[in-house]
Order: sequence, then C-alpha cells, then structure tokens
Amino acid sequence: MKSSAQAVLNLASLINHDASLYEVEDQGLLAPEVALLEADDLSLAEPLNWHIIVRSTGGDDDFILEGNVKGKALMDCRRCLDGVAVEASSSFVYPMMYKAGIESLQLREDDTEEDDVLVFGRPNVDFAELITQLFAIELPLTALCREDCRGLSADGVNLNEHPELIPEVKSEEKPSPFSALKDIEL
Ligand SMILES: [Zn+2]
Repeated sequence: MKSSAQAVLNLASLINHDASLYEVEDQGLLAPEVALLEADDLSLAEPLNWHIIVRSTGGDDDFILEGNVKGKALMDCRRCLDGVAVEASSSFVYPMMYKAGIESLQLREDDTEEDDVLVFGRPNVDFAELITQLFAIELPLTALCREDCRGLSADGVNLNEHPELIPEVKSEEKPSPFSALKDIEL
C-alpha cells in the first residue's frame, strides 16, 4: 500500500442520504506533512496505518465515525538519547455532524453532549490531522532503548557501546545500612 500525506474519505453519499450507501469505509497509510508532525512534536519510524468507517445514524446531518490508527514513532532514549522505535495504537469513536460551509474537519465541544463532535462541511474530508493527533497522544512521555540502558558517561559517551568506561563501584563505597545513623546525635 502506498502512503499518502492525506487520509480522505468522500462522504457525499452520506450527506445526500443515498439510501443504498449508509456507510463509507476506507483505510490507508498516512505519512503526515511536516507541519502536522511538528504540531504534535512527533517523529515517525514508518507511516501510520489507519482505518475509518463513517456511518449514517438515520438523523438528518448526524453521523458516527469509528476508526483506529497504529504505527511506530521515533523517540529519544531518556538515558542514552539514542533513537527508539515506539509502537502505539488508538481506537476511537466520535459523533460527526455535517454543517454546510465548514472548510475543514473541526473537533468541537458540544454543550449538550459529553462527547466532542467532529464537524465537517465538504464531501471530501481529510482525517490526517485527527489521525496524527490521536496517535501522538497515545505515546508515552519518555522511552528507553532497553530496560538496562547504561546511559551516557559524564563526557557524553554512550555506555551501551563502551561498557569499559563504566566506573567500577568498589565494595567499600557501598553505603552502609547504618550510614543514616551518622547524622543522629547521640
Ligand atoms: Zn538508551
């Protein structure tokens, strides 16, 4: 599957209440534009794999969006700063509403409902921004390249690559279990 910078679904049949087509479904690989990645402080190891279904609910301009996204982000190891590929995925459901005149997809708070509502105003809806954001918020705040990452030396050398530089801990330097008592005045 070729990746694209957009994730567009054509919802014309839903807006027009074409009785034969009450749902629109598509999937693809999304390689978001730089501006979208920067907005979410995101860097990707591979394009995002997305899948979206928009269904008519029977109401006039009300629809339901259901979808998921998964992918691999590139993060810095919090100890050695090496690049780490971190997997994440998200499943989501949103009410959607058609409002003529709205240029691009918007996420709005609904005063009457608890859920946010996706509002769109054109038949062709690009979900790239939503998919990118929903993926980004699933990522952990920090990452480790491996559980026992040795980190950097005081000089900034990666100790995973140069374990010989790890300072030896001498047994007499280990804190004594009684060391806390030293502060207590007898
Ligand atoms: Zn590391």
